[in-house]
Amino acid sequence: MRKLCPSCQKPKVLFASELEALKYIKSRRNKAANVHLKPYYCEACQAWHLTHKVR
Ligand SMILES: [Zn+2]
Repeated sequence: MRKLCPSCQKPKVLFASELEALKYIKSRRNKAANVHLKPYYCEACQAWHLTHKVR
């Protein structure tokens, strides 16, 4: 599910839809409560990535 993103030049997890991304975030939240993940659409990959926001 990981792919090198041509836009940010980093291996990114790809999701086919925002819903898939949100489901993934939900499953991750329990483990890392301080990490805030947000889905965003990447036009280079034509898929959804996650941003990591660490407080
Ligand atoms: Zn991308």
